[in-house]
Amino acid sequence: MAMTGFRIFKQVPRLLFGTGALDRLDELLPAKQSGEDYYVFVVDDALQVHGIEQRIHPDGRDMVEWFPATAKEPSTAQVDALKQKVVAARGAALPKAVIGIGGGSGMDVAKALSVMLCNEGPSSQYQGWDLVPHAGVYKVGVPTVSGSGAEASRTAVLMGKDRKFGINSDYSMFDAIILDSSLIASVPREQRFHSGMDCYVHCVESLQGTMINELARGNASKALELCKEVFLGDGTDDMLMTASYMGGVSIVNSEVGVCHALSYGLSLELGYRHGFANCVAFNVLDEYYGPWVEDFRKMLDRHNVVLPTRICEKLDSQAMERMVEMTLRMERPLTNALGENWRNEMTREKILALYGEM
Ligand code: ZN
Repeated sequence: MAMTGFRIFKQVPRLLFGTGALDRLDELLPAKQSGEDYYVFVVDDALQVHGIEQRIHPDGRDMVEWFPATAKEPSTAQVDALKQKVVAARGAALPKAVIGIGGGSGMDVAKALSVMLCNEGPSSQYQGWDLVPHAGVYKVGVPTVSGSGAEASRTAVLMGKDRKFGINSDYSMFDAIILDSSLIASVPREQRFHSGMDCYVHCVESLQGTMINELARGNASKALELCKEVFLGDGTDDMLMTASYMGGVSIVNSEVGVCHALSYGLSLELGYRHGFANCVAFNVLDEYYGPWVEDFRKMLDRHNVVLPTRICEKLDSQAMERMVEMTLRMERPLTNALGENWRNEMTREKILALYGEM
């Protein structure tokens, strides 16, 4: 039998789609057997004002953790602290489920918590590919901002002391997700744009990469089409949710590229949120993603989103060096974008020049 070289095409096994689907969360959760059983909800604290608690109706045993997702990118320290909190409150009794409700950050924290509850030591030791030995607690993801694809992906991206990196394992994928577009209706305009562009960039990087296959291409090209309808036409929130999911599926089974490799450096040194960092980086990548960058600028115009300029001016040479190092660590994305010999093209000088243009 011929080997294809592609990884096993992994997907979230259960999905509930449609406006109001969050009200059917119970159908996706493992039932509680005794009065001791409980769930842990990790919820973006921006949702506190939207009456989310009445829709998930936790009982007295459940833990609801409001996560400060908009403050900055989530960190390994925050995940470790959250695990400690659960263990301190409930000892060895694991929750029946962890439910992550939020944007990419909130969902990634829920994924990481689920994994860390069943694995020893600090979360930083699992940042990397397939380093997690034990399956996590059953987990459900509910995106309330669309674009990251975290609902579909294996990755839980966390900021460590000196690097931003994903826990990337089959065990960090959700067991079920809910795509309820009523939840993204109140996302602030710029956040909706930045996050939506994360999806757009996923699609472009997937389609342009060397690791693409037809299955990933099918998802990425449809998601790209939906993104254009949403941001250049009059596409709906259901379309945006679908694009985010399909873009995520395509990335699980291909890889990101130059934009993500550069954006991680921006998040590390400037504290930029992921979607925003991608917008800033993508805007200077004409030589890699030409026509898509042109469309991206049309979307910026149409939505009156202005990107900052000369962002690296205030950074000293050590900070620039750390950003270059971060980018060079993104070996898989750069291999995907530029091929095995990417180091010949993506030199330190080239990376510094690209950052200089932002
Ligand atoms: Zn992304």
